[in-house]
Amino acid sequence: MSLDFELSIEFFPPQTAEGMDKLRAARDKLAVLNPTFFSVTYGAGGSTQERTFEAVFDTQTAGIAGGYEAAPHLSCVGSSRDSIRAILQRYQERGIRRIVALRGDLPSGTGDPGELRYANELVAFIRAETGDHFHIEVAAYPEWHPQARSPREDLLAFKRKVDAGADSAITQYFFNADAYEHFTDECQALGITTPIVPGIMPIASFSKLARFSDACGAEIPRWMRKKFEGFGDDTDSVKAFGLDVVTELCERLLKAGAPGLHFYSMNQAELTAEIVRRLRA
Ligand code: FAD
Repeated sequence: MSLDFELSIEFFPPQTAEGMDKLRAARDKLAVLNPTFFSVTYGAGGSTQERTFEAVFDTQTAGIAGGYEAAPHLSCVGSSRDSIRAILQRYQERGIRRIVALRGDLPSGTGDPGELRYANELVAFIRAETGDHFHIEVAAYPEWHPQARSPREDLLAFKRKVDAGADSAITQYFFNADAYEHFTDECQALGITTPIVPGIMPIASFSKLARFSDACGAEIPRWMRKKFEGFGDDTDSVKAFGLDVVTELCERLLKAGAPGLHFYSMNQAELTAEIVRRLRA
């Protein structure tokens, strides 16, 4: 069965010119999939500010059809209102129309949390400063944010972001479709009608995935973990199994009514392109 769906793809801002060339090459390959937008992450506290600008503006002007829609991520932790205002102005002047608004995480033990403490305050600030100029995306957590006091508190924190003016949400990645369905049911029960797009993590390396997942609170189900561990250094088997499980997850999510898919590409085209090809085949 062929599935039609809205697609968006995320990059991180490279540290080197060579990394930027790799991003461009990946973007060229992924552009043929016709994504609605490419997003570019932002280091908390502004640590990647200039590199995020560069990757966003490069994306905005790339390609033969006059550029792609580029959506910068913007986090508020460790920042002042003035510095965020300046960034918003720069994006507005350049015609950027979509922003992914986040709190972000400062490395543990580092200082000043900044003037806006949570993402709902950033969303409210963006709306107050720029009205309806930006389509605002926020983060959602079907398996709950690791620092949330309780699932209920996290759900209410998500609702506050929507009430502050978010237009849509992208989830943290997960491998358990039940968690997404349960989360969207709970949102519906709270009267939240904002589209909630699953974030999808293609799997290139199990050790990297395991490290990431520990840090961001995404659960790797035991049956998957055991299979990956069983492959050891056999990277071809890791890739093949990863492609199968992630494609099946996407199919199930789309059939359950997910409004689209957002891919964490890790600046690599191959796995994202293959999963999308299979879904559309
Ligand atoms: P919030 O929505 O503010 O929530 C953070 C935590 O605080 C949650 O536990 C919530 O329950 C709790 N909370 C909210 N309000 C209150 C309150 N009033 N009182 C008490 N607790 C409260 N990070 C980056 O640094 N750069 C990126 O580019 C980036 N992109 C991301 C993209 C996506 C799609 C996702 C899902 C995450 C991304 N992250 C990024 C990670 C994100 O910054 C972290 O997950 C961060 O810890 C939380 O950000 P948030 O916007 O969800 O925060």
